[in-house]
Amino acid sequence: MSLLQQIVSRENDVMRLDAALGGGARAEVRRELKRSITALEEQIRTVEAAEVAATVRAEELAAEQSELAMRLKNMRSNEGARDYRQATQIEHETEVLQGKLDAVEEAELELMEASEQRKVELADLVAQLEIRRGEYAALLDEQARAQAELASQRDAKLEELEQLIGQLPDSMASLIRSVKAQGVAPALAVVHAGYCGNCHMALSSALRGKVGAASATLQRCEECGVLLVPEGEGDL
Ligand SMILES: [Zn+2]
Repeated sequence: MSLLQQIVSRENDVMRLDAALGGGARAEVRRELKRSITALEEQIRTVEAAEVAATVRAEELAAEQSELAMRLKNMRSNEGARDYRQATQIEHETEVLQGKLDAVEEAELELMEASEQRKVELADLVAQLEIRRGEYAALLDEQARAQAELASQRDAKLEELEQLIGQLPDSMASLIRSVKAQGVAPALAVVHAGYCGNCHMALSSALRGKVGAASATLQRCEECGVLLVPEGEGDL
């Protein structure tokens, strides 16, 4: 492999590591986990709000229950104290009150059952949330480690790239640096069978001739602007 081809290969390594550092797939996993944590937190808030509302309702029912029980007690203390018609009336009202009291007590029971179910649901959601949060923290740690590892690999490859470029004649090295400085990435690409190795467009025959001719000057792709490295180029 010629020096220029080594430079192309090293530059590709640096770009590949830069792309990995951008971390598309990893970022997606992280976002997905974050979304499920947010969803669980939202569910927990909803269940907790339902529990608060149920507690308020339970207090209302308890007040209602004690009031009905009081009225029932008063009503019963009157039984037998009146004439037949009044006794019948009191008996009827007592039955009505007892019915209301039963209904209130039943509603209280249902409320308690629902509350028990919510507590179980809440405990489950909180447990799930703990697991997700643990996974998230572990993922962040792992990603930070992986990023640091990638960054050190990238730095090493970048240093190798600079060293290789430094072995070129000065004019060629400064041409490569100026193309890089223009933001052309990659700065170099190997020509494969008359096609630019970067943008894959066919080179004009004139350009192909210039690239093929052994010369100290690098040609640029007319399409994407990379410096073209001949495929069968000998050692410089
Ligand atoms: Zn090109």
